[in-house]
Amino acid sequence: MITELDKKHLARCVELAKQALEAGDEPFGSVLVSPDGAVLFEDHNHASSGDRTRHPEFEIARWAANHVPAAERAACTVYTSGEHCSMCASAHGWVGLGRIVYASSSAQYRQWLREWGVAPTSKVRPLAISEVVDGIPLDGPVPEFAEQVRLLHQERMRRRA
Ligand SMILES: [Zn+2]
Repeated sequence: MITELDKKHLARCVELAKQALEAGDEPFGSVLVSPDGAVLFEDHNHASSGDRTRHPEFEIARWAANHVPAAERAACTVYTSGEHCSMCASAHGWVGLGRIVYASSSAQYRQWLREWGVAPTSKVRPLAISEVVDGIPLDGPVPEFAEQVRLLHQERMRRRA
């Protein structure tokens, strides 16, 4: 169930993904939201730094580990433009964060790359969050935002070509 508030945070994720694209990074953006709806932390992909683990969802997990009391983490929500990869899903699970809302799924991303004839640039298997960590409430993909994310990735591929 996606609420208007969820859509507001997803829109911010898409904005952050766009910022990443403009900075020469892969267009992924994510937001950590507290149980009372406050944005605690946000980030976008920084993989162009040369460190390909600089995913926003991973930064969120580590930020939460350092700043959010353990007892409150499961009531926090992570919004993200693209479903967590296996590394980020694991970090989310280890830190004990709660619900994840993703604009587009890993399966969609994989399908887009296939359609564009783009080979995967890593050997990490594109697992769904539910294949990596148990018991996380999941919502996504959300079609209106997935389409915006698809266009950002398409632009990224166009610029790389
Ligand atoms: Zn990741």
